[in-house]
Amino acid sequence: MLDRIDLLVLDVDGVLTDGGIIYDSRGSDVKRFDVHDGQGVRYWLRAGHEAAVLSGRGSKTIRRRAKEIGIENVYEDAKDKLPVFEKILKRLGRTPDQVCYVGDDLVDLPVMARVGFAVATPGAVDEVRRLAHYVTRRAGGHGAVRETIELVLKYQDRWREICRRYEDRMPADLPAARRPWKETR
Ligand SMILES: [Mg+2]
Repeated sequence: MLDRIDLLVLDVDGVLTDGGIIYDSRGSDVKRFDVHDGQGVRYWLRAGHEAAVLSGRGSKTIRRRAKEIGIENVYEDAKDKLPVFEKILKRLGRTPDQVCYVGDDLVDLPVMARVGFAVATPGAVDEVRRLAHYVTRRAGGHGAVRETIELVLKYQDRWREICRRYEDRMPADLPAARRPWKETR
């Protein structure tokens, strides 16, 4: 199941954020994103996979964050996520079994029921956690997306190549007990 996954579709509120929305006095909203999640998305794209954001709400903040972490496929204001999801599949030439979707609320259920790998955050509503193939240990906005990405890339045996660029720059005489990766070359 996981070996076919190559499109990551992310809900925003409660997944890429902790679900909190702060309004400022000028009417725009403020969201807090997680740096590990953002870097995880960059690794995912670097591995040659695709990513998209599918949000029920619309906000300039989402577009800005997506752009920063390299996601070009941004779909907002999707009150009904299923037809938009189908549009994403068509546009990117993927089938549902190739998709990992991360969600946390009822609006995500119709899409999650169709994808190859449905992931919920621990803060997701009961129905979503029940439907999901996997519930992350880390919370939305606190590494849930990074955890999901690492899980899939490790399963696909692609994580090591991401680490290799750092592994190659480690001192050769680092004591075995402190080596971040088990075998050294
Ligand atoms: Mg949500």
